[in-house]
Amino acid sequence: MPLNDSQFMRYSRHLLMDDIAESGQQKLLDAHVLIVGMGGLGCPVSLYLAAAGVGQLSLCDGDTVDRSNLQRQILYTEDDCDKAKVVCAQARLNALNADTKIHLYNEQLSSQVLANSYDLVVDCTDNLTARQQLNHHCVSHKIPLVSGSALGWEGQLMAFDFAANEHLCLNCIIDKDSAEPIMNCGNSGVVGPVLGAVGSLQATTVIRILLGYFNQHGQIQRYDGKNGQWLGLLAEANQHCVICGTQ
Ligand SMILES: [Zn+2]
Repeated sequence: MPLNDSQFMRYSRHLLMDDIAESGQQKLLDAHVLIVGMGGLGCPVSLYLAAAGVGQLSLCDGDTVDRSNLQRQILYTEDDCDKAKVVCAQARLNALNADTKIHLYNEQLSSQVLANSYDLVVDCTDNLTARQQLNHHCVSHKIPLVSGSALGWEGQLMAFDFAANEHLCLNCIIDKDSAEPIMNCGNSGVVGPVLGAVGSLQATTVIRILLGYFNQHGQIQRYDGKNGQWLGLLAEANQHCVICGTQ
């Protein structure tokens, strides 16, 4: 469907770019992205993707807004405290862009959430079990996965395009011997804008993938907010990985 007048105005800064233009904007409008975790990463990711005109966003989170979230979870206000995060997020994102259809899962990640079909999954969770579940699903269904995390002053992004690459997944990189990480934002703290930096990078990576400009399967980017430094590297496949391994 061609863009209407209002969309030409709204997305004009994309349309001005030769490598996005109307065809790229249409790809964004046609895309359905699942965001799991609507905390410090899910907030900036969903705001940027709704603003960019991603056509459908499914939001999954079973938590309510707590006063301690407001230091970094930029979708929510004081009036949202004790309300479901996904419901508050939907209202805010709808107000931002009516082009974006928002689907809600006011629950923890489950196989029911993953039963729908998505063009891409964004991991904004803070727990290893959900991360591994998303990884397994994306490997088996060949769906791109953009995973982010942050703690203290440090953040990390990992991105995979399983449609084009069978081997190397998030499980290859995770240390099998480490149990569920004991440290998280809840008990160790985090600087709010570090989540914003990683979330913005996740949203940029989502747009890159949806437009077909991603060719760095297994890309890792680390941000050290205290020293103001980024580090980029490529992960290596683990031949013995139980999820994607060859042996
Ligand atoms: Zn693997």
